[in-house]
Amino acid sequence: MIWFAAALLGISLLPSAFAADPPAAAPPEADAASPSAAFKQKGRLRLLGAEVAPGTRKRLNWTSGTPIEGFAVPVPVIVLNGTGPGPVICLTGAVHGDELNGIEVIRRVLDDIQVDELNGAVIGVPIVNLQGFYRGTRYLPDRRDLNRYFPGNAKGSAATRTAYSFFTEVIRHCSALIDLHTGSLNRTNLPQVRADLRTPAVARMTQGFGATVVLHGAGDAHSLRRAANEAGIPSVTFEMGEPMRVQPEQVEHGAKAVETLLYSLGMTKQRRYWGDPEAVYYASKWVRVDHGGILFSDVALGERVSEGELLGVVTDPISNQQHRIYAPKSGRILGMALNQVVLPGFAAYRIGTSTSKAGIQKDAGSSDDETSDSSDDEEEAPAAEGPPRG
Ligand SMILES: [Zn+2]
Repeated sequence: MIWFAAALLGISLLPSAFAADPPAAAPPEADAASPSAAFKQKGRLRLLGAEVAPGTRKRLNWTSGTPIEGFAVPVPVIVLNGTGPGPVICLTGAVHGDELNGIEVIRRVLDDIQVDELNGAVIGVPIVNLQGFYRGTRYLPDRRDLNRYFPGNAKGSAATRTAYSFFTEVIRHCSALIDLHTGSLNRTNLPQVRADLRTPAVARMTQGFGATVVLHGAGDAHSLRRAANEAGIPSVTFEMGEPMRVQPEQVEHGAKAVETLLYSLGMTKQRRYWGDPEAVYYASKWVRVDHGGILFSDVALGERVSEGELLGVVTDPISNQQHRIYAPKSGRILGMALNQVVLPGFAAYRIGTSTSKAGIQKDAGSSDDETSDSSDDEEEAPAAEGPPRG
């Protein structure tokens, strides 16, 4: 009735969520001097059937549409829309349901932001793969790795549909993305940013995470990071620690690094302080074991090793035979297997080998050899089970 009266008077009281797009909807332009000028600036934030007004924080839900409708579990999507101009930074956690550190990083970062002082917006999805999280597994209920199906397809397999829905309804609203992970399946990673440094806006992002190791690579085909980059959304993955656990030091590093990025983009006012900067690695090498048995490591995560140095020993529990594993190259242990039973071929150590930019040339255009990011964890991915990716 009020609306009707207002309409008669020529006044629009329509809630903005239902209003048409504003003509030439000028999202505030960042001037070239702005630290976030390389990223798309936020406009009106309308997603998942809601509008989030500037200066507010809202919890929305994303439902993938693939479960049995009556049992669909909504995945919380938390949106903080700042009052000032700036980009929309998305934080995604637990795309692999057993990777817990990122969940706590996102909680802390969102909790620390003063939305009335925020420039731009932050969208946090602490647990993307909620089904895997409940079951304590990396995978979706159909045993597929969600992080190999982006950007997805509305008519493909269940994993492909889930990926499509998430990519379309959430990721497309992001100016930039940080996808949080841990080592896979009994491996641990030094806190590190993985990024395709050939893309200028991505390279710009990697400079904002404080004293954090950066490892260059294009990312696995159909991973969230790579698909987002291919869609023009600068993206990195942030790796820290191991799956199935919440590790205070790893979480502290991750939260501090993400908060440093937001500060470096001019979005927040809370400055965080770091010691000496960390290296950028342009190449890395996986060291695989050639014999099965029980692996005990002689090196620690983050340690610098020389070519020929002993990394660990695999012992056959029955025959007592021991097989030593030596570093094929000098470098830094960026990721490694926890002590465990291994089969021949298991990728046990990832050595960051080159801090020279020349490595980036060599890697250009290919991402599938072992020196690139692509062998992250592909050796365990049950890709062979599924029909062709949609
Ligand atoms: Zn992961």
